[in-house]
Amino acid sequence: MALNFEPLHKVLELERDKGYADTAVIGGLDKFLRRWAAQALESITSPRFLANFKKLRLDDAKYASLNQEQRQKWIAGVFAFLESIKTEEAEVKPPPKKVTPPRKRPAALPKASGQSLELPITSLKGVSTAMAAKFKKLGVQTIRDLLYFFPHRHLDYSQTRHISELTGGEEQTITANVWQAQVTMLGGRRGTEAIVGDETGNVRAVWFNNPYVAKSLPTNARVVLSGRVTVFGGRHVFESPEWELLEDKELVHTGRLVPLYSLTRGLKPRQVRKLMKQVVDQFAGQVADFLPPGLRKRCKLVELPKAIIQAHYPEDEAAKDDARTRLAFDELFLLQLGVLARRRQWQESQPGTPVSIEKPVLDSFIKSLPFELTAAQQKVLKEMLSDLEKPRAMSRLLQGEVGSGKTVVATAALLAAAASGYQGAFMAPTEILAEQHFSSISEILSRTASKVEEEDNLRRFSGLLDRPLNLALLIGDLSQASKQAIQRRIRDGEVDIIIGTHALIQKEVDFNKLGLAVVDEQHRFGVAQRSALRQKGFNPHVLVMTATPIPRTLALTLYGDLDLSVIDELPPGRQSIKTRWLKQEQRTSAYAFLKRQVAEGRQAFIICPLVEESEAIQARAAVAEYERLSREVFPDLKLGLIHGRLSAAEKDGVMHRFRSGELQVLVSTPVVEVGIDVPNATVMLVESADRFGLSQLHQFRGRVGRGSQQSFCMLLAENPSDIGRQRLDLIEKIQDGFQLAEEDLKLRGPGEFFGTRQSGLPDLRMARLSDVKLLELARTEAIRLFEQDPGLRSPEHKLLSAEVARVWQAGGEWS
Ligand code: ADP
Ligand code: MG
Repeated sequence: MALNFEPLHKVLELERDKGYADTAVIGGLDKFLRRWAAQALESITSPRFLANFKKLRLDDAKYASLNQEQRQKWIAGVFAFLESIKTEEAEVKPPPKKVTPPRKRPAALPKASGQSLELPITSLKGVSTAMAAKFKKLGVQTIRDLLYFFPHRHLDYSQTRHISELTGGEEQTITANVWQAQVTMLGGRRGTEAIVGDETGNVRAVWFNNPYVAKSLPTNARVVLSGRVTVFGGRHVFESPEWELLEDKELVHTGRLVPLYSLTRGLKPRQVRKLMKQVVDQFAGQVADFLPPGLRKRCKLVELPKAIIQAHYPEDEAAKDDARTRLAFDELFLLQLGVLARRRQWQESQPGTPVSIEKPVLDSFIKSLPFELTAAQQKVLKEMLSDLEKPRAMSRLLQGEVGSGKTVVATAALLAAAASGYQGAFMAPTEILAEQHFSSISEILSRTASKVEEEDNLRRFSGLLDRPLNLALLIGDLSQASKQAIQRRIRDGEVDIIIGTHALIQKEVDFNKLGLAVVDEQHRFGVAQRSALRQKGFNPHVLVMTATPIPRTLALTLYGDLDLSVIDELPPGRQSIKTRWLKQEQRTSAYAFLKRQVAEGRQAFIICPLVEESEAIQARAAVAEYERLSREVFPDLKLGLIHGRLSAAEKDGVMHRFRSGELQVLVSTPVVEVGIDVPNATVMLVESADRFGLSQLHQFRGRVGRGSQQSFCMLLAENPSDIGRQRLDLIEKIQDGFQLAEEDLKLRGPGEFFGTRQSGLPDLRMARLSDVKLLELARTEAIRLFEQDPGLRSPEHKLLSAEVARVWQAGGEWS
């Protein structure tokens, strides 16, 4: 075996460049030289050469004991020797050439059969049951799952440089020879340090807290390093770069766009990357492209197998983008098809419940209101009533700002159903809201009723219909006895309008003749709850209401199965709410402002800091904040506290006292939607405002400004990030919820804006709902296809139909 003197040469050059300070290698040059000599001696075959080499006495080097001058001389001697043997070509390998990593195409893929895609990943070489268990946590069980387990991003390690061209602060890749790699102490822990070089120079690489790399980098091996280069002591250093030995394989960890996967504990990035490469190469070709070819070409989408390969290991940015577009299109398109199918199923498979509208009842109800309906309310009410009369179940999404008067309109519809002999259900996301709807609907109805009787959770109105109208509240918090009593009354048809929480869709609840179901605050309910409610009746009409303004494209995507109605105007006389975001230092003046407002007879909300999405933790934090505020900040004011851990009765008590004005300040957790209507409240103070989305802040803000007084929203932000700041600036300026929602969507992306998980729809992994163009394309194509072949029965849609079923079944909510 020939001996390569290059490493020795490089190290000595480095030592020379560093001024003979014995700093070229960690642990000293002597150790390096001895080790290197020992290796070298073993590989020298020519006796003459061996004799010369031995004269250098590298195996007994005493460099450390030399002074600077001696060191210089000694190194010069070695250089001379190396120069002298240059002639002995046979003994010396040529210096490494700049290597371009081979880009091997995957071997010919097996013909599409697809069956193996459903095999568990344990059928793959190198996947143990333990590893499979970890993948299961990530939702990956089959080979197909693995193919669809996309990286959340890629590191761009495609910039290959010579060592002499490295610049600090950038991600770069080099291909080099390992001169030396060893375990060493770095920052007090065992790590790896290596010196590597190419024909333009040497560079140091360190791996903190990782001594294992040393073992994997044998001297003289060719290695590719990718990562950030920092400058330390005037020299470039690779800090914990990705590395891989340059073998006759496609690069996986370095020298390209390298995928980063979101992993759970126990799954190592390198291991997963290697596995993914193997799986993609072997199986992506088996994935059948389910898009009809005509559609695929029209939309200029790449083929599915190619998209999958490029999504994991893209050749370049453009290929990556094309892959994402194709995969995102698939998600949106399948989502649309499922949504359209569901809508058709609901509307056409079962006849709906036509409600005959008793006009006089409605007219007298509307006349009894202390205000005129806005034009928008009238329009929406008309849309709804005309839906109700049809023998086809209504599926309508009613959007409207907080305070735009959705509840009144919904009440009119519920009354219409009741007048026609049907039951109506009104489902709210929290007990507080259910209770509030119960009391405010009671209040509205009592204006036109001649007589009202009250029982536990039951109100009876006479004079409205030709019989008494019964309104009931059903929430989880009731005693078993009263729950059962109400359930019995619902079953017997004794109750006309039932207001409640999720308790309404439990199996014990058995409606007698459900005609209309109203779901408030849609985003808290999944598709599953919606269909559960639907199954409670004879395919009842369904109205879902949300105060979260959802941009139209998003609404059409997530709720494409619903018709849209929008109340796009507020009742007259509503003022804009002065909104300000404040820094920590301004807290005291915020409190002072709040005190002044209370002194003028107004009331205030304080939303506690967002601690964690756990009701228990939130509640504890709220109690602490309430105590602090009561003792230290507002000792003279009457404060109330509300959080998710209070019983319904306790909450009700606090709400009642706040609404009646007995309490001046209401402290609340953010998880409790303070969906209450207190016209006298003029101050909304939100803690840790930068941690909320714009839409949520807008919701909080909507709690004030309901009366005639100027109202204020103060947003305290601890340490807003740049995006946080932008959001806060936006809410200061923009009052309109829809406009805010659009901005929020742009800033945050829909994942946070509106979790699809929450909505019970199939996962969107690649699609960004802010990508309006693709969204519209997917919707247009879905509608087009659906018009041609709604059952997806034609042979060319066979694969597609299977894919729709597969995707929606995986969501588990397809009914
Ligand atoms: P939303 O449910 O959309 O948040 P609500 O139905 O609770 O709004 O209405 C908010 C407040 O506005 C209630 O006090 C309600 O009585 C009142 N309101 C509703 N419609 C009108 C209107 N057209 N004119 C004046 N006030 C209205
Ligand atoms: Mg409301």
